[in-house]
Amino acid sequence: MSDFKLLINGHLVDGDSVMDVINPATEEPVAQCARASKAQLDQAVAAAKAAFPAWAATPIDERRKALITMADVIQANIADLARLLTQEQGKPLEAAMGEVFGAAAFFRYFASLDLPAKVVQDTADAKVEIRRKPLGVIGAIVPWNFPMILMAFKVPAALLAGNTIVLKPAATTPLTTLRFAALVKDLLPPGVLNVIADANDLGAEITKHPDIRKISFTGSTETGKRVMAGAADALKRVTLELGGNDAAIVMGDVDPVLTAPKIFAAAFQNSGQVCIAAKRVYVHESIYDAMCDELAKLADAAVLGDGLEQGTQFGPLQNKAQFDKVLGYIEAGRRDGKVIAGGARQGDKGYFIRPTIVRDITDGSKLVDEEQFGPVLPVIRYSDASDAVTRANASDYGLGGSIWAKDSDKAWDLAAGMESGTVWINKHADLQPHLPFGGAKFSGLGSELGEEGLVEFTQVQVLNMAR
Ligand code: NAD
Repeated sequence: MSDFKLLINGHLVDGDSVMDVINPATEEPVAQCARASKAQLDQAVAAAKAAFPAWAATPIDERRKALITMADVIQANIADLARLLTQEQGKPLEAAMGEVFGAAAFFRYFASLDLPAKVVQDTADAKVEIRRKPLGVIGAIVPWNFPMILMAFKVPAALLAGNTIVLKPAATTPLTTLRFAALVKDLLPPGVLNVIADANDLGAEITKHPDIRKISFTGSTETGKRVMAGAADALKRVTLELGGNDAAIVMGDVDPVLTAPKIFAAAFQNSGQVCIAAKRVYVHESIYDAMCDELAKLADAAVLGDGLEQGTQFGPLQNKAQFDKVLGYIEAGRRDGKVIAGGARQGDKGYFIRPTIVRDITDGSKLVDEEQFGPVLPVIRYSDASDAVTRANASDYGLGGSIWAKDSDKAWDLAAGMESGTVWINKHADLQPHLPFGGAKFSGLGSELGEEGLVEFTQVQVLNMAR
C-alpha cells in the first residue's frame, strides 16, 4: 500500500509490489510508490486498447476541453506538484514551479491546435481529401531530468489526436507523474490515460508490446536504439528524443563579462542534466582567457543545496549512478585539461557536485566527445570559426547548438552549417511549444512539439472518390 498508485482503466491501484523513491539531496526515501508488474502493464495496455475506439470517435472539441481542464488542474495543484518534483528530482523549488507551470502551458498549447481534413481536389471527376487519424495505443516513456515537462511533450498531443496512452515515468522519478495521474483520473474516460511505474524493467516490455502502435520515447541514445529494435516486430511508429552534446561557439567579438553568465546558465541549468544543455564551449582565442575566468567566477559563486531551501541555485545530481558517472568525467577533465573551478562533490550527504569548469582541453577527450549530462563544462580554444563548426559537427550527436556573436549576419550563416535539430543564436536551450523539437543523427528521430509534433501521433488517410 502506498499513497502513490498506478492509474489503470480509470482506477488508482496498488502495484503488485512497492519501491522506495530516494530524495537525491538527502539520500533518504521521499515515499514508497506502487511498482507495476508485467501483468499490470498488460492490464494498462488492454484498458487503453478498449478505450481507443470511443476516444478516437469523440469530437476534437471535447478532447480539447479535456486538455484545458487538465491544464487547469495542474495549475491549481502547482505548489504540491512542484514540491514533490523537487523532493524526487532535486531541482530548486522555483525551477520545479516553472516546470509544472510549463507542463500546464503545453497542455493549453496543444488544446489550441486542430487536425482539419484537407480537401486537395474537388472537381467534376474527383474529390480527394487528406485526413489525419489517430494511431491507437501510445507507449510514452520519460526520463528523470524533467518528468513533468517531458510528459507534457507527449500526453496532450497524443490525446488531442485521439489516441489512448500508457505512460511510464523513469524509475527514480515516478512520484509527480503518479500524483498528476491521481489528479486528472476523472477528467478522461477510463482507460484513455494509464500511468504505471517500474523499476527500469518495463520499458522494453512496452516497446515490444503487440497492442501498442507507437512509442514516444525520451531518454538516452543507447536505450533509444533498443527501443527502435524492440518496436520493429510490430512495426510500431517511433519518435525518439535522445542524447545530445550541444556545442556553443563563442566568437571573438562578444563581451565575455556579458556572455559568460548566459553560457553558464545554458550549461548548468538543472545541474547540467538537460538534453539541450551547452555541453562543450568553443571560445575564440582572443577572449579565451577572459571567458574561462568569468565562467570560473560564476562556478565558484554558485549556491548548491536542497531544492526546498531558499536561495538554492542548483540541486544535486538526480541519482547515484549519474553522480558516479559525472565524477568520472571530472577525472577525465583533470587528466586531459585543467580544472579551474569545482572539481569535487559538495558535502558528504546528497549527490551534490560543484559546478566544474575545465580549460585547456580539446576534442578527443572523453569529456568533450561524450555526453556528460552533469555540471562539468569543457572550454575549448579555437582560432577559426568555420573550423569550430567542423569540430562541433564531428559528433554522432546533433540535438542543439548555439553561436554567440555581435556580428549577427556571420552568426546566422555559421548557424546554418551546424548539423543539429535546433541552432540558437545568442541564446541556448530556448524551447517553445509551437516550435518543432527534434535531433539530427544519433540525437533522435522525428519531432515533438509544434504542429509537426502533433501529426506524428497520426496516420495519414487519403479519401479519393471518383465522380
Ligand atoms: P534512459 O534511456 O536510461 O531512460 C529513459 C527511460 O527509458 C526511463 O523511463 C527508463 O525506465 C526507460 N527504459 C530503460 N530501458 C528501456 C528499454 N530497454 N526500452 C524502453 N525503455 C527503457 O535515459 P535517462 O538516463 O533516464 O535520461 C538521460 C538521457 O536522456 C540523456 O542521454 C539525455 O540527453 C536524454 N534526454 C533527451 C531529451 C530529448 O528531448 N532529446 C530530453 C531529456 C533527456
